[in-house]
Amino acid sequence: MRRLLPLFALVSTMSAYDLHLQPKRLTPEVVCFFGEPNVMNTTNNGNMVNTCYIDTSKNYVVIDSGSSYAYAQSAYKAMQKIKPLPVGLVINTHVHDDHWLGNGFFTQMGVKVLGSDDFKHNADTHVPTRMQTHISPEAYAKTVPTLPNETITADQNLSIGNQTIELRLMKQKAHSAKDMIVYLPKLKTLFAGDLVFNDRVPSLSGGDINGWIAALEGLKSLNAATIVGGHGYRSDKEAMEMTYRYLTDMRSAIRNALDEGLGIEETMDKVVMPSYQSLKMYDTLHRSNVESAYRTLEWEQR
Ligand SMILES: [Zn+2]
Repeated sequence: MRRLLPLFALVSTMSAYDLHLQPKRLTPEVVCFFGEPNVMNTTNNGNMVNTCYIDTSKNYVVIDSGSSYAYAQSAYKAMQKIKPLPVGLVINTHVHDDHWLGNGFFTQMGVKVLGSDDFKHNADTHVPTRMQTHISPEAYAKTVPTLPNETITADQNLSIGNQTIELRLMKQKAHSAKDMIVYLPKLKTLFAGDLVFNDRVPSLSGGDINGWIAALEGLKSLNAATIVGGHGYRSDKEAMEMTYRYLTDMRSAIRNALDEGLGIEETMDKVVMPSYQSLKMYDTLHRSNVESAYRTLEWEQR
């Protein structure tokens, strides 16, 4: 028995941390992993973001690689159990690190990773990364911040297997400086990245409330039947409504405060929006969202 111990030790250091991600099938061709709608911490260990796999019949196209090497590997393993297909392409919706720190797992297999050119300017690559400081070292192990190896500056339609995959870049700053959405016209399925949140308060830090609302209004015209956001469990056709209402309610309330001549602190005290108070992350994000929106809206000609 004693002789087996070194072998056990070797095996345990070789096998990566397993997040036990649970796949959820949305359509026959689309499977997603829905993370806890919460901040990254040592309990969820980065399983706080949504990522998806599209079966194109030829291969998988992955929408966001997740928060770490272990995340990407756990999702990949779960998908191989469902149907063993190679990954042909990974698409990163935006530069926030919970959505792309899994890239390294795919690039080591030679997979192309595509993102907007915003990755050249605004990607969270500082070491330690935000994720690294908040999840356990075991869960972060083997993660190497790896940017997309191909960036795009304009909308593109890709034809892969039996799917047309539309990539659209938002024309103005919204949740981030340049958000990309992915749309499957055949399936009327929209992968909205962090333009859509559910079950928690959205984060407006670094974004633009007007651009975000305009982006959502543009996406509504797609009439998508399935909408997957970057965070939260909803994926039906109404899935963008919570984010849209949160932002439009906030904008009206701040415009009223500006009309009353209120300063930023008074506005942050006043725009409490109680109907959102029960949402996760309200305490950590709501006030700073009001602050960020105020700084955008105070410059409007009124
Ligand atoms: Zn996110």
